[in-house]
Amino acid sequence: MDETLLMIPGPTRVAPRVLKAMSENIINHRSALFGEILTETNQMMSEVFQTENQSYLITGSGTAAMEAALANTISKGDRVLNIVGGKFGQRFMQITETHKGIPVQLEVEWGHGVNPDDVRYIMEEEEDIKAVTIVHNETSTGVTNPIDEVGKIMQDYDALYIVDTVSSLGGDDVFVDGYGIDICVTGSQKCLAAPPGMAAITLSDDAWDVVDKTDNQTYYLNLKKYKKSGDATPPETPYTPAVSLIYAMQEALRVIMEEGLEERVLRHKLAAKATQNGVTALGLDLFAQNEVSSNTVTSVKMPEGITDKELRGTMRERYRIELAGGQDHLKGNVFRIGHMGNVTHREIISTIAALEMTLQGLGLDLEIGEGVAAVADTYLTE
Ligand code: PLP
Repeated sequence: MDETLLMIPGPTRVAPRVLKAMSENIINHRSALFGEILTETNQMMSEVFQTENQSYLITGSGTAAMEAALANTISKGDRVLNIVGGKFGQRFMQITETHKGIPVQLEVEWGHGVNPDDVRYIMEEEEDIKAVTIVHNETSTGVTNPIDEVGKIMQDYDALYIVDTVSSLGGDDVFVDGYGIDICVTGSQKCLAAPPGMAAITLSDDAWDVVDKTDNQTYYLNLKKYKKSGDATPPETPYTPAVSLIYAMQEALRVIMEEGLEERVLRHKLAAKATQNGVTALGLDLFAQNEVSSNTVTSVKMPEGITDKELRGTMRERYRIELAGGQDHLKGNVFRIGHMGNVTHREIISTIAALEMTLQGLGLDLEIGEGVAAVADTYLTE
């Protein structure tokens, strides 16, 4: 078994009790017992989304829920405002195109968060925007977008507000009802610390009205079917679900409930702060602008003269710590430290200590201990 420390922005390590839950034998997915499991899991999912609305699990990765959100609400020729500041913002735009919508792109410089005034400006200027998509935590850049402020603006318009919280739910504040989010999507394998392979979605009454009036463009992801089966007694899923992954989701969500959502978000905040302080104490620069730095992943500019292969290769081979590289045009220019899911001070201290040794070994002029001291200082004073 590979015991490499996984400091990537998902998938993340799962707790042993979650692994154990997954090894339970398969039961009939159309039984009262499975209905009980699904009821508890869906209810906890809604608690984590902080919504009164029902949540539905989809067997598929986070992208399945992103696609379900748009495929069920837009028709050919519908205009969708896609806020794009990284790879996952782009994905929403590509899904819009796939389903024959017309993307109206609000391009945000990578490393920056969207300015809510720009959203208001476009909503005023453009007619007939049917939906707005935004990525809460842009994993590719380490930026968190102000979904609360954009949500306030969206109250003044009829367009649906669709939010991707794949890499933030369970690790940052997401108040689906409080922010006026119409459709919120997430994935299992990041801050929720469940294995990859499940997605979750929740819709407001307004969103269901739109779904009811929209010509469905997808078979497997037809949300009306998820609602019909999910709201039945006992609840079911429309097709055979990944039963073992639902056992795992149930257990992972129980872990979250036991920790407490607020506590969990605080733990992520602290991990982010400690990581940012550790990295900057070593003289490295963060890629994301300070005020929008993510709670769950820190994106760092590659130090001059050091390659991605050298840095991440040494971290992996010598120190057995896996970091993530940059995506698209950031490949080779940044590396990313994921600090989501079950990550605590232990993993952050180890990662920054290994990073110091790696960088010094690669010839960077730094004082061993400065990064770790900054991490310790953060944990001792915050
Ligand atoms: N949205 C965000 C913000 C992500 O970070 C990811 C995955 O990294 C996705 C969507 C896509 O999720 P998946 O890979 O589970 O389909």
